[in-house]
Amino acid sequence: MHNQPHARPATPPRALTRRGFLGAAGVALGLGAAGGYVTGRAAATDRPPATPDFAPDRPLLLQGATVLTLAPATQALPDHDVLVQGGKIAALGPGLAAPADAAVVDARGKILMPGMVDTHRHVWQTPFRGFGANWSFADYLQYMREQFGLRFTTEDFYNATFMGLVDALDAGVTSTVDWSHGLRSTADAEAALQAAHDSGGRVRFAWGRAAGAEIAVVPDWVLEGDVARVVRDPSLVGGLVSLQLALDWSGRPGFPDAAAWRWAREQGLPVTTHAGLYGAIEDEFITQLQQNDLLLPSTTYVHAGTLRPESYDLIAASGGAVSIAPESEFNFGQGYPPTADVAARGIRVGLSTDTVTYQSADVLSAMRAVLNGDRAEQNLEAQNARAAISPPRLSVDTVLEWGTLGGARVLGSDAEIGTIEIGKRADLVLLSTESPAMANADNYPQGAAVLHATRDEVDAVLVDGRVIKYAGELTGDLAARARRLGTTTRDRIIAQLDPAALEQTRHPARS
Ligand SMILES: [Zn+2]
Repeated sequence: MHNQPHARPATPPRALTRRGFLGAAGVALGLGAAGGYVTGRAAATDRPPATPDFAPDRPLLLQGATVLTLAPATQALPDHDVLVQGGKIAALGPGLAAPADAAVVDARGKILMPGMVDTHRHVWQTPFRGFGANWSFADYLQYMREQFGLRFTTEDFYNATFMGLVDALDAGVTSTVDWSHGLRSTADAEAALQAAHDSGGRVRFAWGRAAGAEIAVVPDWVLEGDVARVVRDPSLVGGLVSLQLALDWSGRPGFPDAAAWRWAREQGLPVTTHAGLYGAIEDEFITQLQQNDLLLPSTTYVHAGTLRPESYDLIAASGGAVSIAPESEFNFGQGYPPTADVAARGIRVGLSTDTVTYQSADVLSAMRAVLNGDRAEQNLEAQNARAAISPPRLSVDTVLEWGTLGGARVLGSDAEIGTIEIGKRADLVLLSTESPAMANADNYPQGAAVLHATRDEVDAVLVDGRVIKYAGELTGDLAARARRLGTTTRDRIIAQLDPAALEQTRHPARS
């Protein structure tokens, strides 16, 4: 028996939905009659059920969803309930009894999947969304990293990080590796860490350092003491926010980078690094890591698109992981997504979005892009050889795994998150199937999630059992605050550029 939320006593919703607000406003102002189609009565009955009280300590029962457990990735359990209690998945099964004090959500017809994991996103760039729509990689370095990036203040790092993490949560990304490589001071890092806590998301803060239009500098700053202090400060690192280092190859003779890498190893801090980046960071870097005994199992290699087979072998033997950012690799030419190379070697794979400055930057899009890329490559190879087209080697189910459990494996967090299993932390995404694009999604729910769902379908998001998004709307003032802060930073920085220089960032001169 389903306990319908709308059968509860009418109480004022904590957060009015867009539809609810318009409906209520229409009734109050008599706009329904004036508007023609929308009568006052229709507007009133069209109001969605009141939002249940999602107090953090209250159990939450999601009823009747199609559950993609990701254990295994090919499993879809129809009409299943999930009970969330104490931040964890406490029960999974059909027809679960609701604890007496539970908040109950009717999830019938909807798809419940693990929260998505973005293994590499330069969150601080979010206020500059779309500026790079037609950038080359060189334009990105010049405009985003140097012209905009070097104007960031500490407050801007707070604003931009909060804005970007809220954007990710809205799209169903419950865990984000915030690849924060625009920072110029420890205060900047502390501000970004505070924004991570305030967002409510699960964040792996990857602490890097600005190098302007240079790709990298020698990471001496790691050894200056502030990283050691911050990592032991529970007000900055703890709860849903963890820390790693974002170190890019300096390319300097003698590999002076090694000291910072050794320190990270001693501290047990994982490192994420751009590697296999066409024309910039290639096999020599992997060789230097090997020579210094620094090919570590905790390292994430981002892009990894242009390496020789021997380098992939070394990464596989070390136990390291790869973050593929397919939209970025297609648009900026860092290298072709190395899907076949890493899959053949059993390397842990997660997906990533890189930046909103020149691509969509949500993991649903990344799943589609990586699938398209692998299938395009496979088919083109067959056509060039005049061979018969084979069935696709990369399945929808595998890319769904890469976007969820795979990302959790990259973080080393797969014992806690990444699947819907009893005992795991409740990082969950509920996809609506109401839109015409999702009708008959139950034909192959994994396919609908990967091929047809967009962030508009992201109906509810839970992180560690806390409701961050419900009925298609972010809770509290997350959305409004993110927009306000992000716009403040964008406006403050572009005001420093003369109009011609600003216009040039949108339309770089072509030589
Ligand atoms: Zn990157």
